[in-house]
Amino acid sequence: MNHAFLEIVQPIVLLLPSTEHDTPRVSRSGEAQPSTGRDTPRVRRSGEAQPSTGRDTPRVRRSGEAQPSTGREAQSSTEQPIGPLVIQLQTAPELPVLGGASKQVGEVLLLTNVDGKFTAAVSLGKKEKLSAEIFRQAGGGVARWLLKSNATAAELDFDEVMALGLPGAGPALLEGILLGSFQFNRYKKVDDSPTSIALTLRTTHPSLVTPMVTRAQAICSAVNLARDWAHEPANILNPVTLAERVTALAEQDGLQVSVLNTAELAEMGAGGILNVSKGSSTPPCLIVLQYPGHHPEPGTLPVVLIGKALTFDSGGYSMKSVENIQGMKYDKCGGVTVAAMLHLASQLKLKNPLIGIIAAAENMVSGEAYRPDDILHMLSGTTVEIISTDAEGRLVLADALTYAQNQYPSRAIIDLATLTGGVVVSLGHVRAGLMTNNDALFQQLFEAGEETHERLWRLPLDEDFVPLIKGGDADIKNSGGREGHCILGGIFLQQFVPDSVAWAHLDIAGMADTHKDLPYCPKGATGFGIRLLTHYLESL
Ligand SMILES: [Zn+2]
Repeated sequence: MNHAFLEIVQPIVLLLPSTEHDTPRVSRSGEAQPSTGRDTPRVRRSGEAQPSTGRDTPRVRRSGEAQPSTGREAQSSTEQPIGPLVIQLQTAPELPVLGGASKQVGEVLLLTNVDGKFTAAVSLGKKEKLSAEIFRQAGGGVARWLLKSNATAAELDFDEVMALGLPGAGPALLEGILLGSFQFNRYKKVDDSPTSIALTLRTTHPSLVTPMVTRAQAICSAVNLARDWAHEPANILNPVTLAERVTALAEQDGLQVSVLNTAELAEMGAGGILNVSKGSSTPPCLIVLQYPGHHPEPGTLPVVLIGKALTFDSGGYSMKSVENIQGMKYDKCGGVTVAAMLHLASQLKLKNPLIGIIAAAENMVSGEAYRPDDILHMLSGTTVEIISTDAEGRLVLADALTYAQNQYPSRAIIDLATLTGGVVVSLGHVRAGLMTNNDALFQQLFEAGEETHERLWRLPLDEDFVPLIKGGDADIKNSGGREGHCILGGIFLQQFVPDSVAWAHLDIAGMADTHKDLPYCPKGATGFGIRLLTHYLESL
């Protein structure tokens, strides 16, 4: 697990997280001594089989790249591991000056070397454009650069950040650093570069900054956990092994967890999730997590989060193309986000109760697999004619939605799913699609998205769309063609939720993973939704 916690005294030392969750960490530096009992702050990671190295300070794991990437940074690579390194955040000067901060946010220039003390300036871009998100991006730049540098330790004056008086700048900077240092290296050969970097935050306000760091650690640890699990390929993480992992984590967190297996799903008549899974040799399951809340008002109903976890989606007999089938391990991102969110709820001791339901299945082909033209009996009693076996997410989610309503009176149900390619056509990789039957819920989620920069955009659920999914030989069909493609995903799910239940559907297909490095997210899974949901849940 990467659920780092830290004991902080001045100066604050912040550990950038590794991706070492379940596997023991191999100490690469050759130092086998545990940390000393000195007073310097230390960070411990759960799941670490190896004690930290003999040095007093926690480290950040590096990528295999020892060399900085740009020419301007290259001077550090020609020297020995640099000693005390000060990170400074600077806005771009009005006019370009030699050695001034670049206008590219997060870009680092190694500016000075005075008696072996290096100072690196990280650009915040133009002053008039400063925002929390800019600090998040700059933090990502700091992490990226440190990981590639030869530094073993660095420090940053956090008071300077706080002095800017920009709301959210401090937490955002910490998030950028912690999220930007994510790596998924579990299956690569061990390299011999040093394992970690200590980053010390200098502050005269530890009572203010310490909880900020602790909170950022918890949030980013959950996001990085979701990313890490999402990166696991389908030969490692399938519905069964996912349920095992989620169960182990939930038990560690003291959450109530239950896993509904095939027999139980068949008993209740969950024809959606069962049929989708028929082609796979790994059975499906519904994983249910319950967080009771931390001293909630008596009678407070839970929010229910539902996550689509297709541990692999081949498309079934409506098989995906060679280009589109790669990356389908990320079709479980909604589900792992829900698991990480429940974990985070317990870490942050969120006030209100929360239920997480993860619909885990694998969509494969075999003589047993479901086919186009098949008619499914869903858990709700509705029948669905299969047009495309690749429109399977809505089938597993529909059963999860019905199950949620049967079991848990709630204040709101929110599902997260990498549901359609259509949402990528509509909103690109900038915003997730939000469809909801409730204006208040829309407002809350939308604002949470703006606040955290995990942004959403509302798409309509007009009745006019409903005829497009009317079935020929069944009540409805699971695909209505290309027009309004992602909206029809929402329209389909809406058939399983009465208007009296506040419900929102987040189509995160364009946001759950990225094909290129982003300012604070390397290529791969993003963990999208956790920061947004945390903000929403705390606003209730
Ligand atoms: Zn599919």
